[in-house]
Amino acid sequence: MDYDVLILGGGIIGCAVAYELSKYNLNIALIEKDYDVANDISFANTAIIFDGSEAENDLMSSLEFRGMNLIKSHCEKFNLSYKKVGLLKVNLNETKAYIIDDMYEKIKIREIDGVHIVNNEEISKIEPNLKVNASKALYSENISIISPYNLAVSYAEVAVDNGVNFRLEEEVIDIKSISKGFKVTTNKNKFTCKFVVNTIPNEVFNDEHNEMECNSKNKKVRCILLDEKLEENINTVIINYIDEDTFIINVPCVIGGNLIGIKSDKILSFENDLILSQNSLKNINRESINSIFTEVYNQSNMFIDDSNLEDGYIRISGNNYAKVTIAPAIAQEIEEKIKTNMNITKKRDYIDKKREEYVFSNMSKEQKNKIIALDKRYANIICRCNNITEGEIVDSIRRPLGARTIEGVKRRTGIGLGGCNGSYCNMKIMKILAREMNKSILNIVDDSMDSKILVGRIKEFNEI
Ligand SMILES: Cc1cc2nc3c(=O)[nH]c(=O)nc-3n(C[C@H](O)[C@H](O)[C@H](O)COP(=O)(O)OP(=O)(O)OC[C@H]3O[C@@H](n4cnc5c(N)ncnc54)[C@H](O)[C@@H]3O)c2cc1C
Repeated sequence: MDYDVLILGGGIIGCAVAYELSKYNLNIALIEKDYDVANDISFANTAIIFDGSEAENDLMSSLEFRGMNLIKSHCEKFNLSYKKVGLLKVNLNETKAYIIDDMYEKIKIREIDGVHIVNNEEISKIEPNLKVNASKALYSENISIISPYNLAVSYAEVAVDNGVNFRLEEEVIDIKSISKGFKVTTNKNKFTCKFVVNTIPNEVFNDEHNEMECNSKNKKVRCILLDEKLEENINTVIINYIDEDTFIINVPCVIGGNLIGIKSDKILSFENDLILSQNSLKNINRESINSIFTEVYNQSNMFIDDSNLEDGYIRISGNNYAKVTIAPAIAQEIEEKIKTNMNITKKRDYIDKKREEYVFSNMSKEQKNKIIALDKRYANIICRCNNITEGEIVDSIRRPLGARTIEGVKRRTGIGLGGCNGSYCNMKIMKILAREMNKSILNIVDDSMDSKILVGRIKEFNEI
């Protein structure tokens, strides 16, 4: 067999599974079709870590609660931001005030600490900039925000350092059972393995081993990303129920600014969206908007389909708005299932540590001088909006499973996410990528194979 375990798909779930399994004496590969892991994570670079209080059913609730605690400890271990911001659920429709009470009763049964009903005065104390007149709200002090991409990349980096082989730019096209294992065919290779963990969402890849139906409940959510320079920023996650079909969610972003999501079955104009958003953030105007995009809001239940466990096949099914939160809990469940199926032992030389990285803008003056003395590239500021240096960009490329695309550099370092939206630094990132990867600048892509930035030369200069 080529591998003991093949993990299919390099989203946050695949990376978390690779991380958990990398501590065992197993020959593992992860196959991902894109240039980078976690490419499908929303580019807004923030995710809410839920506590299970809002989950539709008890199974999702317990996965969320477990995932939240694991993510907290992983962020500490990998030195990633885990910002406790709290969540206020407000219902402005007084005739539907019972919704808040019903939610609270459910939470009491689930025995989740740190969730309370708060009155109008308490709402103002928790979030002074929230200009709504609600008599009560449900407040969870447990809710946090993280950068999900950085978490996924950290899982992947530790897995690589512990011997997991990440096969990027390979698309799985077929999975077949063979005697005592599987044959996985990609667009480039054929591999045999004893065990398959398939994390590719059912909507994009289905195979004969997937017996469970995934009842997708997908809705669209329109998102508005706001500038970090608003006079009155909201620092708490706010969910504001307008009516049965519509809610507005306001999420403070890890890197500053706010993200407003509008979930509505109605097709509304941008002006309507703006008016709805002003329900929670009064001072939003056109000038404060950085970008607008639409995302899919998934509400189907997640489950680990282990109906073929004895043959060596597990599939993660379902798509859910809290998938980042539950990813580490799912990974641990898979670890347990594999332990029952294969005779595995722990590695003696396992290193549960991410290689150190330096965020120049967070350093003291002394630390900055020290690192510049070691490496002059830390004195070359490439991103003027967020003070990101050439040293950080080079490190993001040279790390295990380093960035190969402009988007990869941006997501790892935060470059290009400032006010200029990359207009000042994009060309500089391209030049550094080309130099570090020893490629022609014409072959540098934004994020996928068909996203080349420069289509050709218009004049033959010696260099560009
Ligand atoms: C708008 C929005 C907001 C969200 N907010 C939150 C939040 O606040 N909190 C939270 O916990 N969660 C949140 N989520 C959920 C979460 O971001 C995603 O659901 C999660 O990142 C999905 O991870 P995944 O690993 O299951 O799937 P994916 O990220 O889709 O990973 C699957 C991977 O498989 C690869 N792949 C596909 N086909 C093939 C193939 N044939 N061969 C090889 N590779 C293949 C893909 O390229 C991809 O990298 C949000 C989701 C959305 C859309």
